[in-house]
Amino acid sequence: KIMAFELPKLNYAFDALEPNIDAKTMEIHYGKHHNGYTNNLNNIISDSENENKNIEEILNSLDLDNSGLRNNAGGYYNHNLFWEIMGPNSGGEPKSEISESINSNFGSFENFKDEFSKAAATRFGSGWAWLCSKENGKLEICSTANQDNPLMPNGCGGKPILCLDVWEHAYYLNYQNRRPDYINAFFNVINWDEVNKRFLEK
Ligand code: MN
Repeated sequence: KIMAFELPKLNYAFDALEPNIDAKTMEIHYGKHHNGYTNNLNNIISDSENENKNIEEILNSLDLDNSGLRNNAGGYYNHNLFWEIMGPNSGGEPKSEISESINSNFGSFENFKDEFSKAAATRFGSGWAWLCSKENGKLEICSTANQDNPLMPNGCGGKPILCLDVWEHAYYLNYQNRRPDYINAFFNVINWDEVNKRFLEK
């Protein structure tokens, strides 16, 4: 393999998402947790049949019994998407094509917000909430445990276009046990232009 997986650059400063997500949480989450998954992933795939695969191929062909690869390939991919679909001066309701699709799939943006928030709030322990785009044009919400994701053989399928990390490391410094407050704040930092870009990509 020519290049190992790299921790992607953040497109904004650690404090750019305040007060919704605090700078210290961003610093530790990105610099320690995500960096750790990235380094572990590179070590695990080194000299293996996964060494020359891209991350989607690794996830699609994953042996679920390989817990090291499962946790770290998932952790790498999930956080890559998470950072990209957030940003400063974001939030509110989407306006572009994704807005029409949300309305037709969920009835209204408020209904979508309720369903997504419920998926995030009811995930017991650590995990993620997802919005996925299916080949038939449908949008679906699901949640996964730990660092699992929709691309894995046990996943809910479709292409992930929005995700929310509900591990305690994502919110505990600022919100302690108040996961619902964190979920609500997440909607203030969703970069809908990025979500729409992924939605339109074939
Ligand atoms: Mn995380």
